[in-house]
Amino acid sequence: MVPVSLMPIPSRIAAAERELSELLAYPEERLAAIIKEVGFRCDCCSRCCTRAFNGHVFLLDRDVVIARKIDPKSVEPAPYPEFCDQNGTFYVSGFALKAQDDDCGSCWFLKNNRCRIYDQRFSICRVYPYMLHREPDERGKIDWRQIAGLNEHGEYNTEIPEILCQEAAAETREYETACIRQEISFLLYIQDYFSRNHLRHVQKIHDDRMRAFARGGEIRIMVFCNGRLEEHRVHNTR
Ligand code: SF4
Ligand code: SF4
Repeated sequence: MVPVSLMPIPSRIAAAERELSELLAYPEERLAAIIKEVGFRCDCCSRCCTRAFNGHVFLLDRDVVIARKIDPKSVEPAPYPEFCDQNGTFYVSGFALKAQDDDCGSCWFLKNNRCRIYDQRFSICRVYPYMLHREPDERGKIDWRQIAGLNEHGEYNTEIPEILCQEAAAETREYETACIRQEISFLLYIQDYFSRNHLRHVQKIHDDRMRAFARGGEIRIMVFCNGRLEEHRVHNTR
């Protein structure tokens, strides 16, 4: 089976649209029931706000606007750009939160183990650890996952009022649909942009430039956000 990232763009758009339909058909009350049954309670350890535990914190476009208003330096191009044209320019969808230069890669907004912008925290920060997307299990069988890092953090079997379970389920599904819609917009834009500008993705140039980047080189990267491309020059500082 061809990995999704190597599929032609039209196939990827079709796959993302199928994923969106599946997500919209998923009964919200089923997710609410799982949230109720698991009874997750955050113990405020703050590990999910670090790269050591959670990798990058990807932002929806609407969150990028908020993050930049709070602190224009708080975002950076999302990592792992998947498209690279024949001139060596990369293309990526969206931004991620920057990390501080500490041992665990704390989020830019984490201070003394607390979020310093908690009331304005971003969509992913609000729904975590709830999620609703399909992934292969250890035997390769595709199934839904609803809780990230189950049994690896927090407390379980706490009593959560029904109404809060329903609200969390609705918010989680809204977040997941927004992610897929953002991905579809990116793919449609790139398909059209490459066609209009006689560009094509070249995997070898992608791989060569990423290796140079890993050694500390600079890459030019066009970030798709809120319907347009922004140019950035990025160095690998890690
Ligand atoms: S914005 Fe706040 S809640 Fe979100 S990852 Fe950063 S510190 Fe954590
Ligand atoms: S959501 Fe989990 S990892 Fe994040 S602060 Fe709460 S218990 Fe810790």
